[in-house]
Amino acid sequence: MSGSLTGAALLRDATANRGTAFSEAERDALGLRGLLPPAVETPERQVARVIDNLKRQASDLDRYCWLMALRERSELLFQRALLDHLAELLPLVYTPTVGQACQQFGRIFQAPRGLYVTARDRGRVRELLRRWPAGPVRAIVVTDGSRILGLGDLGANGMGIPIGKLDLYSACGGIAPGSCLPVMLDVGTDNATLRDDPFYLGLRQPRLQDDDYDALLEEFVSAVQECFPGVLLQFEDFSNRHAFALLARYRERLCCFNDDIQGTGAMGLAAVNSALRITGGKLTGQRLLFVGAGEAALGIATMVKAAMVAQGLSLEQARERCWLLDTQGLLVAGRPGLPAHKQPHAQPRAPLADLEQAISVLQPTVLIGASGMGQLFSQPVLHALARHCERPVVFALSNPTAKAECSAQQAYEWTEGRAIFAAGSPFAPVELAGRTLVPGQANNAYIFPGVGLGLLASGATRVSDAMFFAAAAALAAQVKDADLASGRIFPGQDRLREVALAVAVAVATTAWRDGLATQPRPDDPELAILASMYRPGYPACAA
Ligand code: NAD
Repeated sequence: MSGSLTGAALLRDATANRGTAFSEAERDALGLRGLLPPAVETPERQVARVIDNLKRQASDLDRYCWLMALRERSELLFQRALLDHLAELLPLVYTPTVGQACQQFGRIFQAPRGLYVTARDRGRVRELLRRWPAGPVRAIVVTDGSRILGLGDLGANGMGIPIGKLDLYSACGGIAPGSCLPVMLDVGTDNATLRDDPFYLGLRQPRLQDDDYDALLEEFVSAVQECFPGVLLQFEDFSNRHAFALLARYRERLCCFNDDIQGTGAMGLAAVNSALRITGGKLTGQRLLFVGAGEAALGIATMVKAAMVAQGLSLEQARERCWLLDTQGLLVAGRPGLPAHKQPHAQPRAPLADLEQAISVLQPTVLIGASGMGQLFSQPVLHALARHCERPVVFALSNPTAKAECSAQQAYEWTEGRAIFAAGSPFAPVELAGRTLVPGQANNAYIFPGVGLGLLASGATRVSDAMFFAAAAALAAQVKDADLASGRIFPGQDRLREVALAVAVAVATTAWRDGLATQPRPDDPELAILASMYRPGYPACAA
């Protein structure tokens, strides 16, 4: 309970308010009698009311707004509802609904949350960070809003993403909400429609460029290190114009990572390995075609190639098994204008522009969509894939749902039910020829909350590639034979907290092994990390 608040002030403090769950004794001791209806309720009853209210809302966006308003009244009840109904509420607080929430951010805005650092704040970023009232801050998720999901530049509207990610840090990763800080770096937006929107809440100016952008980022990161030493900084939804460079610049300076590149990489490697448990194939025998050559695709391709090398292939051989195709066609050596971060993935061969043709020529066994373009995996594309491959692995990772490269129904139908399918956004099970096929949700939510928890538990000073390999292996180990039997290559989302714990133990163990930890290794890391995990507490009811 926060400080010595009593009476109406206590009920208005969202971090301390337990509403009808305050006991009779507390109502007397804290001056609450008369200010609450007489019923004393359990948290379970309160959560049941939340769920009942959500059911009565007309749309998922309304449900999102209702949940955000609830959080302004009681963070405890919000967190408790999220924890108790994780699988049900995840699509509301996170993808896909968070995509709509970002698009409508200015319209549905109710109360500020997190910190806004803008292009106008050069020279006083430290001052702004010191202004943050809650604390101590342990985890920051920051975006500049330049590539929100597959929705492009949403400027300051992108704040919905750090907020949603940190909700998962708390619900899945057990990192207390009071120690989580969402940050919007508002450097302007090149989205002219948004700048003309009367409800837009961000700076109405074009994005900062080059040196001005870098200087603001540098001031922000330095201020973070100074104001919140030991904090974990997660870069989120930065366009690939800056994402790779920022990661390269800061990964050796503080404990930071880019979830779109590294988190997706670990999630993708785990997904491929789990799919191979169904097909019986070996990773080193696969041919992977990525559609999209941005952060997600390059993140997964890098991890897969490194895993192939660890399993005995040369880097050259691994490279020959991973192909990437973007808007300009296949990544091939000598392609004009190929940016530095794509060059290691280019192959020495003739160009190929068309996806269907690329499938016929390269005969992939694994097709991964990370393009942000809905419906790229058309019927002819999936027919071409299924023609040469008995059990094709198809991942449509792009979010939100409308941006998925294909739906679950399409993936199964167009491959005669032979595909092993997973998507970034949730899809319902599909009935086909008397079988129920359950698509997995290939989502970073299986990785980043556990990575964050493991980094904080070990007090990691840096985030290494080895940690993401350990995270991928830990996630893959959580997939049960029963999941695979239904075609699902991820654990159920009701197990996200369990998965986060396993990932955290793997990450922290790597930090302790590799000399990157500042916290002593406990005798039983799993028990110690579990004990450290936040649960929305209701002390009176527990008594
Ligand atoms: P990005 O902007 O860095 O990359 C997109 C890539 O797709 C670019 O290389 C672009 O050239 C390519 N592309 C666009 N249209 C194409 C087309 N018609 N044909 C071929 N290539 C095309 O974005 P990103 O960070 O890599 O994310 C891509 C998508 O993946 C987004 O929708 C994002 O939400 C999703 N994603 C999902 C997860 C997950 O957990 N499921 C994780 C990360 C990203």
